[in-house]
Amino acid sequence: MPTKEDVEFPPSMNPDEIDEVLFTKEMIASRVRELGAEISESYRGDDVGGGGLRLPLVVICTLKGAAAFFADLVRSLSCDSQWEFMAFSSYGGGTTSTGAVQTVLDLRVDIAGRDVLVVEDILDTGHTLRYMINMLQARGPKSVRTAVLLHKAERTVAELGLTPEFVGFVIPNEFVVGYGLDYDQKYRSLPWIGVLAPWVYGDADSKIKYSA
Ligand code: 5GP
Repeated sequence: MPTKEDVEFPPSMNPDEIDEVLFTKEMIASRVRELGAEISESYRGDDVGGGGLRLPLVVICTLKGAAAFFADLVRSLSCDSQWEFMAFSSYGGGTTSTGAVQTVLDLRVDIAGRDVLVVEDILDTGHTLRYMINMLQARGPKSVRTAVLLHKAERTVAELGLTPEFVGFVIPNEFVVGYGLDYDQKYRSLPWIGVLAPWVYGDADSKIKYSA
């Protein structure tokens, strides 16, 4: 387990804002490379984006949280990818998402008959991903698979029936920031991932708006 000594804090930040460092940038880079290899391998039989294939893999980045993960992941794929972007917002009281998901930015391409890879920063309750996958499935893609960097497995609602094909790290039920993940639009640029200290957002019962 890394410590705060293993990462750099920007001068604007008080190290007390972070309770614990979960993943250093080296740990993230190495796991993303592994995921890239796993994903490339899983599409090999289909020749997605390969020599015999006509159409590249449609890789969808969910803004804004997945942007850092997406940028690193697509560059570690050995198959050709077409980059697309979507954004959703979900609102929760405290640390629980209520399932009230809204589309903020939709695709502008037709995914019918295409292989689609959804790239998500974090799978928490699962309401956002369920909503997104339902929306994509209704458009007749050839396949939809999901890569999530972080999975709060104990929080994911079993009834939503989500089993992401590719998972970076399973994490406990803590509010994390860094590597694209924010709190109130802060902390996204940290190259590492840490647990935000509860005093920063009030307390565990205070209202947290999970935004796209
Ligand atoms: P859901 O509960 O629908 O799976 O997740 C909703 C959204 O809440 C995620 O896409 C993510 O943007 C945000 N979220 C969930 N857990 C965390 C967290 O620990 N840290 C941050 N920064 N965002 C989170």
